[in-house]
Amino acid sequence: MTKTIERTHVSAPIKPRLKVGVRVLSKGNSIFVGSADFGIELRSPCAREIVGQLNGSLSENEISANLNIPLENVGEVITRLDEAHLIDTQLSKLEIYSRFNSHLKSESTQQRELALDGAHQQIQSKLIPELAFTTWLADVRDGGVFNIGSRRDIDLQIIGENRIASLLFGIMLASGVSNTSLLSSQETIQTQDICAGYFRASDIGLSLTRRTEELSRELSLFPLPQKIKKSDDLFPTRSLRVVLGKIPADQIQDWMSQGIPHLIIEDPDGASINIGPLVIPGSGPCLRCVRITREEENEIWKEIEWQRAFAQSLETPVAVAHSVAGTVALELLRFIDSGESTLIGSMAHIKYHSPCNTEHRNFAQHPACGCNW
Ligand SMILES: [Zn+2]
Repeated sequence: MTKTIERTHVSAPIKPRLKVGVRVLSKGNSIFVGSADFGIELRSPCAREIVGQLNGSLSENEISANLNIPLENVGEVITRLDEAHLIDTQLSKLEIYSRFNSHLKSESTQQRELALDGAHQQIQSKLIPELAFTTWLADVRDGGVFNIGSRRDIDLQIIGENRIASLLFGIMLASGVSNTSLLSSQETIQTQDICAGYFRASDIGLSLTRRTEELSRELSLFPLPQKIKKSDDLFPTRSLRVVLGKIPADQIQDWMSQGIPHLIIEDPDGASINIGPLVIPGSGPCLRCVRITREEENEIWKEIEWQRAFAQSLETPVAVAHSVAGTVALELLRFIDSGESTLIGSMAHIKYHSPCNTEHRNFAQHPACGCNW
């Protein structure tokens, strides 16, 4: 996997460009650059002309020469925009699976062929919306390209039988997490799996493994080989697990000892569902810490947990499944891209009847749990 992406820093000349979604508004003698949430005011008399040239194809020197404005003034505007995280100033190269690239061909031949390749153009058009997520992450100055490419470096396993699991599987693949797999104890696709998601009525009764392999190739943002086989080049170096429903205690123990981060999404509880925490082994609370804390606070919790361990899982309504899968996917992508997530050591409680009023509950390591020794 390390061979599929490289970050190329262009030392000189820098060709700055406004980040996607940045707006430029006139305000009397000055201009406002930013969005409804955040922006800066530039009072320099030439600011509007300079900002108009920030399209990623011109260097500071070229802008200065084009507009006949001193280099110092151009540099000043660019520095202010860079400090406000409103422009990209670096270039990263995104390498895509070998169908699109051959080391035997020159770069210019490859570029000509890629411009004519419909599949490559499709990937580019699907990449643009994804870049709108990564380019706004803190310290990203390459339009978010490196982060999107690095999503292929994650071995993501989604373990569970419910609708949220299958929706999450599709969303993560389509977001560039190419090495996503769906693991289920159920061998075939069932009626309740059909929820306006990735499985269709004609899939009922088909092998879950075979259908998810086909879907991987259909949905993946980056092209996958016809036979999905992990070669040395494509083998991801980072792992992440998501468990839905029943928690496999032995696997959790393995992930703790191997240092693999894991996110828990419990079975629904009445008309509500808990998401989290995202456990980072060796840092913050583990699932046992959470369990001990909940048992201490609520004496009936232990019994409820015991009953749930043996009861048949409740399926979620279609709208809840889509909402939870979308929210979880955003948190996982943020974690993959930046190492940060609101769900680290925290549980989000979503009520079906009031989904926008999410309650968060933070947990700490419990002194009675052995994980902090
Ligand atoms: Zn613990």
